[in-house]
Amino acid sequence: MKSFGFAATDANEPLVPYTFERRAPRANDVVMEILYSGVCHSDLHMARNDWTWTVYPLVPGHEIVGRVIETGSAVTRYRIGDHVAVGCMVDSCQSCDQCRRGEEQLCREGNTGTYNAPDRITGDITRGGYSKHLVVREEFACRVPDGLDISRVAPLLCAGITTYSPLRTWNVGPGSRVGVIGLGGLGHMAVKLASAMGAVVTVLSRTSDKADDARALGADRLLISTDEQAMADAQSSFDLIIDTVPVKHDLDLYTPLLDVDGTLVIVGQVGPMNPFNSVPLLLGRRRVAGSPIGGIRETQEMLDFCARKNALPDVEMIRMDEINEAFERMERADVRYRFVIDMASLKAAG
Ligand code: NAP
Ligand code: ZN
Repeated sequence: MKSFGFAATDANEPLVPYTFERRAPRANDVVMEILYSGVCHSDLHMARNDWTWTVYPLVPGHEIVGRVIETGSAVTRYRIGDHVAVGCMVDSCQSCDQCRRGEEQLCREGNTGTYNAPDRITGDITRGGYSKHLVVREEFACRVPDGLDISRVAPLLCAGITTYSPLRTWNVGPGSRVGVIGLGGLGHMAVKLASAMGAVVTVLSRTSDKADDARALGADRLLISTDEQAMADAQSSFDLIIDTVPVKHDLDLYTPLLDVDGTLVIVGQVGPMNPFNSVPLLLGRRRVAGSPIGGIRETQEMLDFCARKNALPDVEMIRMDEINEAFERMERADVRYRFVIDMASLKAAG
């Protein structure tokens, strides 16, 4: 079927309107009309080829909410008209130990990314949510809980699950002391989710500019990471730190902030980090870990949790043709706190 969207054609060019083919639905596929698409910093990294594996033209977008408009003959979970949501993956082997326990993001064969990945059957490169339609096997679509404001759901599919999953893995609950480095898309969801779980949350930001926002989002306080005295005073005071910084950086600034057995989880920078000192890790039995998105079952659990707690992202709605400006603003950390593209604007733009 013909579809259309916006694509990056080169690392140095703005995104432009783009027409392409979506596969005809297989028996276990649903076809969605995309209503809203979140803008993740990964989209920007990928459009700019920061990770060196971008295949152009690239249609980004892995925070996707839409309406089912067609179902394959074997589809059982969804019907035409249902609101469904798709995140960073659209397939996996479905048979390895990780897939069987619902951790498709850790599939032994590698999961299939929503964009820029070869389809497991045809080898065609997948295309993401900055487009009118998506064809996806039903196992990789989540149900949007009733009553949620559908225009604010999309960012949960990446920013939400990427922060929810480590909060659950490291058993955050009432009284947990959680630090969040970087108050952007992921960071602000980490704050909302951790505080909805009952944690005492501290934002670590480079300046005090976002201090009022941090408190409004549910944090107890904002710690300025460039204030040496404040950082020294905060030593050994966190059980878990979620690090969302999108570029190479120093961990030595942050590891001493962990209490004994505390963990710093990197969810931001994908690639090399600056060399770091092992002394704070050894002396405090502290840990540095990483975490990728989350499984489909956990993503559904997160959506239901957000519906119960009314934990929804703070969204700035944009038109499709404003995407290049949005990327530039994201690069300057000028997003409060997630851009969402209203896909109804796509026709007008394209
Ligand atoms: P974002 O909205 O741009 O937020 C990043 C925040 O990090 C900024 O708001 C800023 O906060 C801080 N920051 C930016 N540049 C910095 C710098 N040079 N040094 C220190 N701090 C800086 O980005 P996002 O969408 O949350 O994504 C964050 C990262 O997570 C990206 O690299 C993305 O690729 C990655 N990601 C990973 C996964 C995963 O599965 N693990 C999933 C999604 C995204 P302050 O102004 O408060 O300092
Ligand atoms: Zn993302």
